[in-house]
Amino acid sequence: MKILVAIKRVVDPNVQVRALPDSTDADIAGAKMSINPFDENAIEEAVRLKEKGTVTEVVAVTLGTSASQDILRHALAMGADRALLVETDVALQPLGVAKLLKAVVEREQPGLVLLGKQAIDDDCGQTGQMLAALLGTAQATFVSALAVAGDEAIATREIEGGTEQIAVKLPAVLTADLRLNEPRFVKLPNLMMAKKKPIETLSAAELNADIAPRLAQLKISDPPARAPGIKVNSVHELITNLQKEGVLS
Ligand code: AMP
Repeated sequence: MKILVAIKRVVDPNVQVRALPDSTDADIAGAKMSINPFDENAIEEAVRLKEKGTVTEVVAVTLGTSASQDILRHALAMGADRALLVETDVALQPLGVAKLLKAVVEREQPGLVLLGKQAIDDDCGQTGQMLAALLGTAQATFVSALAVAGDEAIATREIEGGTEQIAVKLPAVLTADLRLNEPRFVKLPNLMMAKKKPIETLSAAELNADIAPRLAQLKISDPPARAPGIKVNSVHELITNLQKEGVLS
């Protein structure tokens, strides 16, 4: 069985992002970029399934500009066998991503498609769900444990106040939670070896999907600045202050 893993290039999670002065977008010019953290969990899980002998091939796919080759190299260094870049300069929204991924799924025919549960730049958390709907397959979102047996995947899902275990018929779309695993550290020799693995490039236009934006971004703003803290001299003063602020009654 083949696994397709969709990975997105996002601003590195350690970068403090600010809004542009005119509030039209986030100022990420020159910022360090990385693979989306949840997508790294998805790659790790796919590689582990291959190491267990459950799957035969792990294919990483990203949609974006040629700069996204760096995250494909990272996925290859983690153990993916092949990588696919669907090249486009269009700023994609989740529905456009889901439509392009549907076309990739139709070409590659994977038994399982893994995505992150959300991209940390747009925080949409929509693409996996839309992709499953477009493909008409089962889906399991926020997956924190996974076992594949025969034509089924048993997924443990993170839900409010606990976990839920479900069985989904393959082929299916799954989205990875951070608790799914601890992604392996990529060593320099693996990165060097990854340079020899193939990256296939397709243009988004070849996939014939309608990726026109459906949403208009009106404004991006920084969160309000935190008020400075104060030192109190006693528990009594703390409680009185909290009561004044309406935090305690
Ligand atoms: P979102 O719905 O935008 O929060 O993204 C959820 C997941 O969809 C991400 O964790 C990725 O697995 C996948 N995804 C989103 N955008 C892209 C992209 N441009 N290329 C590949 N995968 C993507």
